[in-house]
Amino acid sequence: MPILCSNCIDKRAVLKRPKTGHSLCKECFFWAFEEEVHQTIVAAKLFKHGEIVGIAASGGKDSTVLAHLMKLLNERYNYGLELMLLSVDEGISGYRDDSLETVKRNQQQYELPLKIVSYEELYGWTMDAIVKQVGLKNNCTFCGVFRRQALDRGAIMLKVDKICTGHNADDVAETVLMNVLRGDIARLRRCTAISTASEGEGVVPRCKPLKYAYEKEIVLYAYFKKLDYFSTECIYSPNAYRGYARTFLKDLESVRPSSIMDIVHSGENLSVREGVKMPVQGTCNQCGYISSQALCKSCVLLEGLNRGLPKLGIGKHHRLHDKILSKQPLTEKEERKLKAVHF
Ligand code: SF4
Ligand code: ZN
Repeated sequence: MPILCSNCIDKRAVLKRPKTGHSLCKECFFWAFEEEVHQTIVAAKLFKHGEIVGIAASGGKDSTVLAHLMKLLNERYNYGLELMLLSVDEGISGYRDDSLETVKRNQQQYELPLKIVSYEELYGWTMDAIVKQVGLKNNCTFCGVFRRQALDRGAIMLKVDKICTGHNADDVAETVLMNVLRGDIARLRRCTAISTASEGEGVVPRCKPLKYAYEKEIVLYAYFKKLDYFSTECIYSPNAYRGYARTFLKDLESVRPSSIMDIVHSGENLSVREGVKMPVQGTCNQCGYISSQALCKSCVLLEGLNRGLPKLGIGKHHRLHDKILSKQPLTEKEERKLKAVHF
């Protein structure tokens, strides 16, 4: 006998919600999922009427579901937002070029303006070229730092008030775990925030409307809604350490699905003992972006690439920043240390 939807007790259930275990029909699942995201947006007061909001769009499932939901909820609940799509082209052939084609189709489907900013135009380097120089070990460090700034720069070009990103509950839980494993207290304290105010000049406030949505439900939603998204992994995605954290989280989830939300809640309720040293935010002496050092991470990484010293931004070389700023040459020993990349 078919299982009936536990909500409407009328239609046939097509899925068991990973988050709650309820058996639901398609329509009731859509409604529950959409309402939960709406409640998240309202409860955290993520947007104000009249704001211009840039949706960070990669063409992947999370950002495609986010774009779909933002458009839908903006109309259903009259948020009064002006929405735009904002994409970053890292310059990864065979991956990002294909996923950007998906974003371009989404732009047509959702009738939203789209801005694409590329690493090549902003930094003079594509990820393809960076990987050629730095190899496949630290490439995601470069990519992550550059992306953060690229999104801000794109948002400023588009004159948006806020950026929303497709980070879901699994991503947040994974980041909490990663920060615990790395002992990164400053990041641990802020990584569960659903929204961040502008931290300074050139930094646009961000928020995560899907913060409490499970990745599995995002996939189900995209699948049953037949959304057009791109599902291939990045060809340069070796990040082994993060991979372990992800696998660990998925293992926990398979034994106890609430693990994801439990980790998110643990992160939200952590308080850091008084007296723990935190980095003091200032601005980069070279580009003006926020930084707790004389040079921001992006400028250091870029300088390393341009000088053929890729290790400059990997690990701690703060001592050398002043030298770089004042364009002093490095000693032979310093250069040697920064040149070697261990694959
Ligand atoms: Fe960039 Fe690494 Fe993500 Fe690929 S996996 S897009 S290189 S951060
Ligand atoms: Zn800088």
